Parts: sequence; structure tokens; C-alpha cells
Amino acid sequence: MAARPMPYLDELNPAQRDAVEALDGPVLMLAGAGTGKTKALTTRIVHLLNTGRARPNEILSVTFTNKAAREMKERVGRLLGQAIEGMPWMGTFHSICVKLLRRHAELVGLKSNFTILDTDDQLRLLKQLVAASNIDDKRWPARALAGVIDHWKNRAWTPDNIPASEAGAYNGRGVDLYAQYQVRLKELNAVDFGDLLLHVVWIFQQHQDVLEQYQRWFKYILVDEYQDTNVAQYLWLRLLAGGHKNICCVGDDDQSIYGWRGAEVGNILRFEKDFPGAKVVRLEQNYRSTPHILKAASGVIRGNEGRLGKELWTEAEDGEKVRLIGHWDGDEEARWVGEEIEAMQKGTRGMRPFSLNEMAILVRASHQMRAFEDRFLTIGLPYLVIGGPRFYERLEIRDAMAYFRLVVSPDDDLAFERIYNAPRRGLGEKAFQKIQMTARSNGVSLVDGSRILLESKGIGGKGAVELSRLIEGLDRWGRMVGSPEVSHIELAEIVLDESGYTAMWQNDKTPEAPGRLENLKELVKALEGFENLQGFLEHVSLIMDNDKSDQGEKVSIMTLHAAKGLEFPAVFLPGWEDGLFPSQRSMDESGIKGLEEERRLAYVGITRAEELCTISFAGNRRVFGQWQSNLPSRFIDELPEEHVEVLTPPGLYGGGYGAASGGIESRVAEADVYNSPGWRRMQSRSQQRPVSQPKETKNQVIDLQATSSHTMGERVFHQKFGYGEIVGIEGDKLEIAFEKAGTKKVVARFVCGPDD
Ligand code: ATP
Ligand code: MG
Repeated sequence: MAARPMPYLDELNPAQRDAVEALDGPVLMLAGAGTGKTKALTTRIVHLLNTGRARPNEILSVTFTNKAAREMKERVGRLLGQAIEGMPWMGTFHSICVKLLRRHAELVGLKSNFTILDTDDQLRLLKQLVAASNIDDKRWPARALAGVIDHWKNRAWTPDNIPASEAGAYNGRGVDLYAQYQVRLKELNAVDFGDLLLHVVWIFQQHQDVLEQYQRWFKYILVDEYQDTNVAQYLWLRLLAGGHKNICCVGDDDQSIYGWRGAEVGNILRFEKDFPGAKVVRLEQNYRSTPHILKAASGVIRGNEGRLGKELWTEAEDGEKVRLIGHWDGDEEARWVGEEIEAMQKGTRGMRPFSLNEMAILVRASHQMRAFEDRFLTIGLPYLVIGGPRFYERLEIRDAMAYFRLVVSPDDDLAFERIYNAPRRGLGEKAFQKIQMTARSNGVSLVDGSRILLESKGIGGKGAVELSRLIEGLDRWGRMVGSPEVSHIELAEIVLDESGYTAMWQNDKTPEAPGRLENLKELVKALEGFENLQGFLEHVSLIMDNDKSDQGEKVSIMTLHAAKGLEFPAVFLPGWEDGLFPSQRSMDESGIKGLEEERRLAYVGITRAEELCTISFAGNRRVFGQWQSNLPSRFIDELPEEHVEVLTPPGLYGGGYGAASGGIESRVAEADVYNSPGWRRMQSRSQQRPVSQPKETKNQVIDLQATSSHTMGERVFHQKFGYGEIVGIEGDKLEIAFEKAGTKKVVARFVCGPDD
């Protein structure tokens, strides 16, 4: 390929250009957030291709997520002005290692079609080994062993080269069990995540010919988010780059947030030792964020010791200060964010309008997402959960909804198929085929097919007993639909209890089970906003249907960890409370290591924002079914006052979003309010019933306690249908002509006067 014009170089500043044009030899780009590291890395690939140094399949480039790899490929294509035919070696460490290991599986005693175990499978296997070794699983849980083994694998330690200092791990049995586990995995022709790297490193170390083949093949190596590589990944890179040393790593020590998974910032320092003469490039101009955002982020990260240290600057205009707001509880926080997003779409408080795609909510813990998802579903705000399923797409929620669907319409065969054996009822594939055939030949639903099959004794044993119990249950629950004695909320609880579905997760000992139970509780809670099961099911199916298409703009919701490397014009950072962010665990730890990692996470969060960053905290939060009362995060105290605007929570002071006077000081005073005995009393009351705000502004009404003393012609608000006028009253039912939703009958207790 002859050298072509290089307009892409003109988009870079001199330091970036320096790093891009130094094509040969080791390069380390060490720079803060938003300084264009990823941009420089991408341009470097373009330059390699454009100057004919390498073909697309000779470049090995490691990104942090598969999504990042896809985006990088697109960008390369765009900058190059032509689509590139595949860059097979652009991906995550894991995805690249899977490919390598499939090619050379036999060298570690595996077949090339090996399976990759997920964490659940891994744990199950370890449990078996622990049980077989007569170890008390209660004192020495298999999960702890899994942690130890992961830790060793992240350091590229195979069972025969574990350092003596680790001999005491897992009550002294760790090393032995690790060896057994590896043998068992090979028997199963399986690997876990850690093995992907471990095996490939081992192959490279033991088979010089294989290593040299790849050293020659990968002419250039590039690594993004280098600060988060662990030792095994580092060794892998060092081996591959050992020949030509054309390796370019970019990273930011202040954004190292995977220490808990074995990442070592020390790898940055090792780089210059292992690759002497490496060109080190520092970038200081930030192109992403406004000065207020940047300085707020710097103010927080300054609290960490032992940083490599760097100051960022930007030419951007000051823009908005970082906004800070405290709320009564997590639901109120979600409600406020929902309203704020809607207001921002239109343009509020002198700011430009933001589209949904331009806004993101970044949470510390994934359980925080539900409050937002519930709220957004209720108000019909399209959203996208990145890095995990959306609430109504989760397995346990789909199962529970399938039960509800069957209770409401027993002919729903798809729903039946989903739950006939969840929980396990001893009804396997065969039994299901029988049910299906009976149903088909009689032209009836699967539920009725089951009845016929049971009557004709076409099925026996435990399966028959359980199936008839399920059908009886469905009949019984079906009769309760619309009954005045049982509310649809109680009915939902009855169905989940009597079907054994809740018990299934209660008895499940996998790490996911508590979260699933919590989600089920959250589902029942979501029902409160509806009059009956049908209404709720309709609502969810409509929303899910509307959301099916990938088109249309959406707010992104993701964890801070998943947000690394990304940028959004407007970012919401909720849940800044001690115990949540920083996490309780990091606060309990003796050293400062954990806390420093949390602080870097805060830095990552703030620096995702381009124009507007909104931090919030709640005085009360329900975590896994328990109400907790929290202090605002210590990181809030570290935000430099001159870059922060404190907003007044509307619920607290009777409306208005004006800035509170007194800045951070008044924020601290607010925190005290949250911890005063009065608020605590309210908090304990709120444990017994749905939270209602001390003072509601008119567009925020979800007061389930409001009872009816309504009059004809009154203007009212309904949580789901919005504003309307009462056109009929029948007992506790109201007929309302809604402004947007048309005329509907609703239950009076779901309706409030506009000024309640
Ligand atoms: P992070 O540490 O968060 O991963 P980063 O250093 O990788 O950040 P990039 O994502 O590459 O930063 O760049 C941040 C933003 O700045 C992007 O929108 C990018 O297009 C823009 N940018 C980077 N370099 C320049 C430049 N020289 N001129 C104009 N814009 C730039
Ligand atoms: Mg980046």
C-alpha cells in the first residue's frame, strides 16, 4: 500500500501526533481522562495501515470491552476513508485469548471445542470438590476458594508455581484443591475465564516456536486502558512484544478501578523497566469536559496518595457548575432524575436542550438501577441498560410475569412453557412433549392439555403429582383475579409463594439468588402503581414492545465500571452516600487501598461528563429489602466548593429548584436533617408503607394514601395516566377524562388532587 494523504494527523495536537508517528518501538502514553488517548490509539492504527506498515490482521489491539472494539473498528474505517476488511485481532484480552487457545488447545490437554464455564458453573464444580474433600463448606465456603483461585490465575500462577507465602490459603487446602480443580476442568474439556489467559501464557512460555510465530505475526501491539491490566495480561503482552517491541500502551493511573480483580497499576511503572528506552508521552489538554467538571474531578482525585500526578487543562468555556442535590430516599431521587431528564430534553434553566442519547446515569451498584428503570417505565421514558439485562428482561422477572400471565389467561402457552418446570417439578422434556401432543391433538391450550393428560393417566410419578398441583394452583389463583377480598398485589405474592417460585430462589445458594429475590420484591412493588394484574401486564408488554426496536433515542443506565472510556454530554451520578459510594467494604478495610480505588471510580464518573454533571444522594435507601439511613458520601466533601452548585430538593422545601445559599455548608446542614430524629421517625414509618413525600410538588404525586373525597369536575392527577377531570363517581371508582389517555375508570386511591 503506497502512502496516502494523512488528513487524520491534522486532528491531533503535537503530543498526540508525536505518539502516533513514533510507529516503531515501545510507547507509553500516560495521561488523564479525556485527553485523547483512545483517539491517538485509533489514529495510530489508521497510520499503521495507511503507511503500509501492517495489514489489518497483523495488528493486535486490546480494548476494554467488545463494544469498544467495535467502535474502534468503525472509527478506523472512518478515518481511513474506507471500510476495513476485518481486524480479527482487535478485542478484549479474553476474546483474543479464546481464539488463540482454540488454535492450540491440545498443547494444554484440551480439545479445540472446549467450553467456557461461567461463574455459576465454576462455583458448582468447586463445591463438589470441597464436599469430596470433607471440608466444612460453612466455615470454608467454596466461593472463597473461587476467589483465591481467581487471584492466583490473575497472577499467572499455575498450581505448581504458587509461592510458598500462599500455602496457607483456604485453610491450607487451597493449592491442593486448585490442582484438583484444574484436572477436573481438563476432564470436562472446559476452562474458566482465568484459564483463557493462564493457558495461553503457559503455551507461550513452554513452546518457543508458537510464541515466535505470533511475535512475527503481530507486527504491532496496542493496548487501551492499560492501567487495568493484571499480571497475567501483562506477561502475555510482554511475551508477544518480546521480539520487535512495537507495543503502545495507553492508560491513566487515576482511572485504575479493577484492583479488586487483580489489576496492578504497577504495570505502568514496570513498562519502562521491561521496555527500556520506551517513549513516554504525556497529554494534558482535555477535550471532553468543561473547566468546572474537570476541576471538580481533580479536587476529588487529589485526595489519593502516591499518584503519578498530572494536571489537566482545557480551552473549553466554564459552562455549568457540577450540580449537587440531596433527596429523601432512592425513589425520590429516581423520580427527580426522571423529571430532570424530561425537562432537559426541552431545555431548562437556560441550558441547551439535551437529547436522550446525550444523557447517562452511572451507578455505583447495579441494584441502584431498578429505581430508575421502574420510574422510567412508569413515565414512559426510553432507556437502555448497558452491560446487563433490563429489569423486565431478567430471568426471574420473566418467570414471574409468565405466572401472572397464566393466572390472567390460562391459554397463554408461551407462558406455560416458560414455567411448567420452574421451580423443578420433575417435568422434563419428555413430559412436556406429552403435554404438547395431547394439547395439539385435542386442539386445546397446554394447561387444558395437561388436564386431559392427567385424567387419562398419561403421565405418572412425581411429575404427575406436581403437574396437577400446578394446574390446581392456576385454577385457584385464576378465581382470585378481580376478587374484592384479594388485591392484585396480594395475589401476586400468593402466586409466587404457592407456586414454589420464591422458595426456589430462597433455597438457591448461588451469589445471584439474593439479587433475584430482591428483584421479585421490586416487581411486586411495581404492581402498586396499577389497578390490576391485567393493567400491569399490558403496560409492561407495551413498553417492552415499544422498546424492541433499536431505533429511537434512549437514556443510558450503567455502572461506573462499565462507563470507563465513554463520554456523554450530561451525566447523572446518583447514590453518593457513605456505604454505597464509597462502598461499605472499602470503608471497613483497614488500609486506604479500597477507598482510593473508590475515589478513582468517582473520578472516572465525573470525567465522563462533557457539559453537565449532576451528583445526588439520598438520606434513606432500601437495599435488599432493608431500609438504610446514610450520610452523604465523603467524596462530596472533596468537591471544590467553587465548582459546585447545590440544588434544593423540591420535596424538602416545598418546591423550586433554586440553588440553596451557603454552598457545601448548607449541604452538610441538609445531611444533618437527614439524620435528625424526626427524619429517622419518618424513615421507620416508611418501612411499613410505601413512602409518601412530606411535601409533594404537583407533578410528583404518587401518594398512595390519598383517599377519595372527590367531586365531579375536579381536576386530578393519576400516576399512570396523568392529569384529567372527574366525569363520574361510583363508590371508590372514578371515571376520569384524562388529558392524554382518554376516558378511563380508575380506583380512587390512585388519584390525587393536583395540589395534594
Ligand atoms: P478516557 O481516559 O476517559 O478513556 P481518552 O484519553 O481516551 O479518555 P478520548 O476518548 O480519546 O480520551 O477523547 C476524548 C474526547 O476528546 C473525544 O471526544 C475525542 O474525539 C476528543 N479529542 C481527542 N483529541 C482531540 C484533539 N486533538 N482535538 C479535538 N478533539 C479531540
Ligand atoms: Mg479512552
